[in-house]
Formats: sequence, C-alpha cells, structure tokens
Amino acid sequence: MSTRLRFADRDRNLIMKINDALERIANDEYGYCESCEEEINEKRLRARPMTTMCIDCKEEQEREEARTKIRPGMMDEYE
Ligand SMILES: [Zn+2]
Repeated sequence: MSTRLRFADRDRNLIMKINDALERIANDEYGYCESCEEEINEKRLRARPMTTMCIDCKEEQEREEARTKIRPGMMDEYE
C-alpha cells in the first residue's frame, strides 16, 4: 500500500516536472539555470531533460539539502 502510494507520488512528481519543462520551453526559458541563469550544459540536458539547474547549482543545492533535510525515508515510519 505505502509502496503504491510512493509510486503514485513519483508519477505525479514526474508529470509536474514535464509540465514545468513544457512551460519553460513555451516561455523560451528552457535550458537555462533557474538559479544562476547560465545556459545548462547540453550533455546535462540530454541526460536530465527536466533539470532546471546547471550542474554547479544542483550540486550546491544537494549539499545544502544533505546538510539541512531529514534523511529521506525517515518520515515514512510514522505513516
Ligand atoms: Zn546555475
């Protein structure tokens, strides 16, 4: 049950990301980092078409998240 819910969440998340990417394409913002506004490396875009950040900003964000967030999965214990 909880596994199914998690999959549904992941699907919803992906659909949101796709819509987001389409919107950015429509606004001519696709391929630019939303953080530093630099062009995102084409190789990175091919590997991760839904990305909204360049690799530098993404790594920065992930470091920040690792430092501040509760580890993924910990909240699930209480559901
Ligand atoms: Zn950036």
